[in-house]
Amino acid sequence: MLDIYNFNPGPAILPKEILLEIKKNFLNWNDSKSSIVEISHRSSKFIKFTLKAEKDLRNILNIPENYRILFCHGGARGQFSAIPLNLTKKFIQPNYINSGYWSLCAFQEAKKYCNPNLINVRRLTKDNQVYIKSVQHWKVSSKNTYVHYCPNETIEGIEIFEEPVLNNKIIVGDFSSTILSRKINIKKYGIIYACAQKNIGPAGITLVIIREDLLQFSNHQSPSILDYNLLAQSNSMLNTPSVFSWYVAGLVFRWIKNLGGLDFIEKSNTKKAQILYKYLNSTNFYKNYISPVNQSRMNVTFHLQKKELTNLFVNIAEKHGLYGLKGHSLVGGIRASIYNAMPIKGIKRLIDFMKYFEKKFG
Ligand code: PMP
Repeated sequence: MLDIYNFNPGPAILPKEILLEIKKNFLNWNDSKSSIVEISHRSSKFIKFTLKAEKDLRNILNIPENYRILFCHGGARGQFSAIPLNLTKKFIQPNYINSGYWSLCAFQEAKKYCNPNLINVRRLTKDNQVYIKSVQHWKVSSKNTYVHYCPNETIEGIEIFEEPVLNNKIIVGDFSSTILSRKINIKKYGIIYACAQKNIGPAGITLVIIREDLLQFSNHQSPSILDYNLLAQSNSMLNTPSVFSWYVAGLVFRWIKNLGGLDFIEKSNTKKAQILYKYLNSTNFYKNYISPVNQSRMNVTFHLQKKELTNLFVNIAEKHGLYGLKGHSLVGGIRASIYNAMPIKGIKRLIDFMKYFEKKFG
């Protein structure tokens, strides 16, 4: 049977061996005689599992002791509200860096709670390629501010590799499409958050990594479920968490650790993206519009020169076992999301298909 590859941007591909493990243990999770979707989040077996998951995550991301790890509800969009609600008691006028769709969404949500400053850092090269201004040219206002940015714009396929350091400002990052794809220096950030459904596991849980001293600024009028201080005090169990998502996330953290951590993952992701971009550069039939310095390693976007062939490309690709390639409706074209679990074989299959398609319709 033909191997199927899932290029969706989220829910994204998960490691096959983890899916098989879930299937095997589903009905009698960890010898508890309960299925994983029935077990109590307060049972000693599950608590033990969450502690191990946290330990593995701390290990792979090298998270210092003075950072708390929270598992929240509401996806990354929930954090678009939680961030200003938890910080603007002190940081009254935050700066929001606009690099694309998701960072702009975060800004628009923040406007409900404060008066944020929007900084546009997107530019075009002479060849019409999008690039992001380097951090030293981000003109942030200096008083009472945190700086929010998104290092990987999932829709457009724009990645910011430079880690922002801005005069001791608190940096807040939407790492939904970046987390666990490469090494990062946690100490440079005040808060990092990420939805799960890309490199962590199934949707339903949202990771927040927060420097402990920032917990004191939560706004008491904010809904309790978005209050980082309350979530930290209750070990992310203020109410019933998505036990299943948390469980799968724990398996993914263990999988990354056993593979050799982010050193291994980063090398593998770099190689996968390089192969695909190199092929894109070699043909005029397909074109990527992102400048090489900001080409995303997780979401490779491109257009067919003959735009009218786009739907046909997507439909025939499915017949070849390649799913989820349709670009976001806002930008059109094709998007191949190649998160951690996408094997190099999947990339090669995609390239073979692209060559075949070009030969047939070019
Ligand atoms: N930020 C980024 C960078 C994303 O890619 C997404 C989802 N694709 C979101 C935010 C929103 O995530 P959620 O659907 O979990 O709210």
